[in-house]
Amino acid sequence: MTQIIQLKYGNTKCYLLKGTQKNLLIDTDWAGKLPQFFNELGKKHLKVQDIDYLLITHYHPDHMGLTTDLMKLGVQLVIMDCQKDYVHQSDYIFKKEKNPYFQPIDDQQAKQLNLSGSQYFLNQCGIGGKILSTPGHSIDSISVVLDSGEAFVGDLYPQEQVPLYHDKILSHSWQNLISQGARFAYFAHYANERVNLA
Ligand SMILES: [Zn+2]
Repeated sequence: MTQIIQLKYGNTKCYLLKGTQKNLLIDTDWAGKLPQFFNELGKKHLKVQDIDYLLITHYHPDHMGLTTDLMKLGVQLVIMDCQKDYVHQSDYIFKKEKNPYFQPIDDQQAKQLNLSGSQYFLNQCGIGGKILSTPGHSIDSISVVLDSGEAFVGDLYPQEQVPLYHDKILSHSWQNLISQGARFAYFAHYANERVNLA
């Protein structure tokens, strides 16, 4: 059973999945939050060396701001094929706010992964699960679904709000999640830690 550790050191809930072989971090917070990140790791009795891989649910600034910092500390970024054209979509926001901490991601240093290879990749980490493309909040949104039913969905709009949006892409993402075994959702900003799915 994969251990799930929530890391919150700003406005984004990030999740560390501890596999039997490797550990995978899902999302980071905003650029400049590195001290808060270390502080949160310390509280959870973790070191940055405990993080092998980083996966970003979508490349909005409050999910990927620390990516380059973590890569420089030895964490391997995993970019899904459906995300590769969107990795730099938030760079302009950090530029606009003249954020001195932000460094653009060096895509060349990242591991590129196809959705079809996600199950194999996670299995090698000792994590039973798969990665799905779940657009709706943004085109590059992905979700991690564990075999035990936990789904890490980033900023995907909650399931009960789907009828409000009249958005086929969004409804399809939820159908896909459910058909792939998602039973509990973990959101990045939702108040509840874990939401039961219908
Ligand atoms: Zn977002």
